Amino acid sequence: MRLLVTGGAGYVGSVVAAQLVAADHEVIVLDDLSTGHADAVPDGATFVEASIEDAGQALDGVDAVLHFAAKSLVGESVEKPGRYWANNLGGTLALLEAMHERGVRKIVFSSTAATYGEPESSPIPESAPTRPTNPYGASKLAVDTALTAFAGLRGLGAVSLRYFNVAGAYGRYRERHTVETHLIPNVLKVATGERESVSVFGTDYPTPDGTCVRDYIHVADLATAHLLALGACREGEHQIFNLGNGTGFSVREVIEVCRAVTGHEIPAVVGPRRAGDPAVLVASSERIQRELGWKPERTELRDIVADAWEALSGI
Ligand code: UDP
Repeated sequence: MRLLVTGGAGYVGSVVAAQLVAADHEVIVLDDLSTGHADAVPDGATFVEASIEDAGQALDGVDAVLHFAAKSLVGESVEKPGRYWANNLGGTLALLEAMHERGVRKIVFSSTAATYGEPESSPIPESAPTRPTNPYGASKLAVDTALTAFAGLRGLGAVSLRYFNVAGAYGRYRERHTVETHLIPNVLKVATGERESVSVFGTDYPTPDGTCVRDYIHVADLATAHLLALGACREGEHQIFNLGNGTGFSVREVIEVCRAVTGHEIPAVVGPRRAGDPAVLVASSERIQRELGWKPERTELRDIVADAWEALSGI
């Protein structure tokens, strides 16, 4: 298939683009490089440097879109909500209009666990209430709502994948944010010497060790789900699937695993809670396993961290 991958110079987008190229698809990466890296575009893909509002010609002859391009920092979204609504919702609506004009009728969308907000129970199924607690989650949920409407009104075939905590690396493709807010890369930066210590944001949560629990999914397993989702796009339907490992690890457990993998003592400093962090976020990925036959292969946190460490440190 001829596929447009928006945000294909970013972390998850570049891994999916690489897997699509390896599966012999014709891949066009569209990315404005606002947070992505040109050298992350996989060999064999065509690169178009443009924003999603200007997808225009890049959509000619395309069979489906995999849409990753977005602003994705929770904290920034609270400080600059307009930017998140404009980019994530406004940009996606422009992309959907351009797709409609050119007769492109399939889309796989990067949604997020942040659409659920503070969960009532764990693990979280797709039927859980969606009550996002920040503009990032709200803007992604708004796109999911638009996709449902466009499927009903225009016959669009859409699949939203709601990611939990993506981690690890796939060959040379790794997480590289200018402002790093995520736990695993921040912990590993202590081991490389880029940071002196890692902050633990809160130790008074109602969890076994008092720190937040998250569901870490390997980026390669996450990417595989996109290829399955592409095959499952059915015109007139919007399907939503959660993607996680189904197992939770606390911040302290993550730091311990990073110590074991790197052999570095990794000093940790306890700090206050970070605003908007739910205590526990663990996915039920039962639906995608049952309906699309997805199965995560790299489920051990140690293996996920080891891949991230290998890509970061060049070991
Ligand atoms: N966290 C932390 N120190 C950091 C970064 C994150 O203690 O330097 C915590 C954060 O409060 C959350 C968990 O680690 O409970 C995962 O955070 P991350 O930003 O990686 O992902 P999120 O779950 O927010 O999407």
